[in-house]
Amino acid sequence: MTTLDGKALAAKLKAQLAEKVKTLPRKPGLAVILVGDDPASRTYVNGKRRDCEACGFLSEEYALPAATTQAELLDLIAALNARPDIDGILVQLPLPGGLNELELLEAIHPDKDVDCFHPVNVGKLYTGQKGGFVPCTPGGVMELLHEYGISPAGKQCVVLGRSNIVGKPMAMLLLAENGTVTICHSKTPNLAEKCATADILVSAVGKTGLVTGDMVKEGAVVVDVAMNRDAQGKLCGDVDVASVGDKAAYLTPVPGGVGPMTRAMLMVNTYRAALAHLGLEG
Ligand code: NAP
Repeated sequence: MTTLDGKALAAKLKAQLAEKVKTLPRKPGLAVILVGDDPASRTYVNGKRRDCEACGFLSEEYALPAATTQAELLDLIAALNARPDIDGILVQLPLPGGLNELELLEAIHPDKDVDCFHPVNVGKLYTGQKGGFVPCTPGGVMELLHEYGISPAGKQCVVLGRSNIVGKPMAMLLLAENGTVTICHSKTPNLAEKCATADILVSAVGKTGLVTGDMVKEGAVVVDVAMNRDAQGKLCGDVDVASVGDKAAYLTPVPGGVGPMTRAMLMVNTYRAALAHLGLEG
């Protein structure tokens, strides 16, 4: 079994970006808006700041109190939309109750929507139009597959999970590369049977131990997107590594698989946004 090493690829991508940035007339700029004091969100935002530093990007953080109003956030987003030195704007989710998440995400200019939540970018992804952003987590999975020479073309792909953040865009990206895609969710009957047909199985559910060896075809590629905590509080995915490791040809570790790729793809998207704003080719 080969480990799909997201940590190594993410480091390589960030190092490449750091080199490319040196040739630009200015640094790519990412603004991150954090509302409230959710500790997990704080950790993610810190990670994004460190990634920006590693890539030589301008990084701006707006850490705002939970009592911040919708109008104040809309004003901030409008100001960032107008800034020529800010290429990407990210609102860290989840937001405290009472704020209209959808309205805020739609207020971000599509050209600065590096998380790919704006309906314009989602629409481009689903209709196969060029020029939009690819959402970071599924985009990171695709980069990882490419790195290891794995093509979805002609393969049976099964995606567990249908969220707007992971499952659905993951299915679209596999489909765009000519995979035959089945999307499964909590109401899918005979899950094990469906998983066992997969040449490429992507699990994005959030249930520790959901995917066991008996559900995996011999020689399959298994991508574990989930970030769960086991009974000891240790980070783990959906996949039961002990049993799946014997069947899969490729498997992503948790941690060190999709997580670092998600972070790296945010940097890639910000860099691409900067190129577009500077009128440069990719
Ligand atoms: P989510 O919005 O909770 O979606 C979970 C999906 O799993 C839903 O579509 C749900 O079905 C489905 N599901 C639940 N139980 C199931 C079951 N027994 N069998 C099959 N499907 C089932 O979660 P998410 O935001 O997509 O995230 C999924 C996981 O990925 C989480 O562990 C999250 O922490 C992780 N994640 C990781 C990264 C990363 O960078 N590595 C990024 C984002 C998310 P229904 O639609 O029917 O409810």
